[in-house]
Parts: sequence; C-alpha cells; structure tokens
Amino acid sequence: MTAALSPTQIQLLEAELKNRQQQLDGQVADHQQGRSRVEHAREVLEQDGDDGPQRDADREVDLARSDREMAELGRVSQALQRIHHADYGLCRDCGEHIPFERLMLEPWAQRCVACASQAEGQYQPRLKL
Ligand SMILES: [Zn+2]
Repeated sequence: MTAALSPTQIQLLEAELKNRQQQLDGQVADHQQGRSRVEHAREVLEQDGDDGPQRDADREVDLARSDREMAELGRVSQALQRIHHADYGLCRDCGEHIPFERLMLEPWAQRCVACASQAEGQYQPRLKL
C-alpha cells in the first residue's frame, strides 16, 4: 500500500509536467516552422544515438517524432488538467495509489505497474516502482 501524494509531491509533479509541456511545445513549434530537415535529423541522432538504421529514414523519423511529440503533449496536457483532482495518482484499474517515483518518470501514468503490465501485455519495467 503506497501513501497518498503530499501537496509538495503534487507541486513537483506539476512543475515536471509544465517543464515537459514547454519543451514539447517548443519542439512542435519547431516542426511547424519547417526547420531544416538536416538540422533536425542531426538533433534526432544526437538524442537517439543508438538508432543507426534510422539514419536512412529522416522523413519517417521526422514524422514519427512529431507524432510522438503530439501524443506526449496530449498526455501531458491531460495530466495537468487531472493533477488537482482527487483521483490523480490513483490507479484507474485497481484504485491503489501510484508511487510518486513512478509518477515522476511518467506523470501522466494512470495505472500502477501491476495494472499497466496487464493492460499493455509485455510492459516490463526495469525498476519495480
Ligand atoms: Zn492498479
């Protein structure tokens, strides 16, 4: 049984979400301004240094990355709307408190690790949070 989130922890999570929102906002805006693909690809390579084969597929990387950013931005915005509601941080399946450490990694998480692994099939967290 995990303890409920303290007001301080909620504040930290909210700050984390706002950080990510700002970062993603900037990234999405960059795409919309049509920044040079070369510069963009370089950035992708720097961030995902171990994805060699993707080097040949700038366009797909670009599109996939935009999709990922938009999806994450959506999750972040939703979490920001939920964060001050009583059910934020509660697993939507079993109703248990989701541990703070897990929420700091995924502030938009709506399930505890046990339920998330059931829902997602093969989700294998490296840390049991
Ligand atoms: Zn659960």
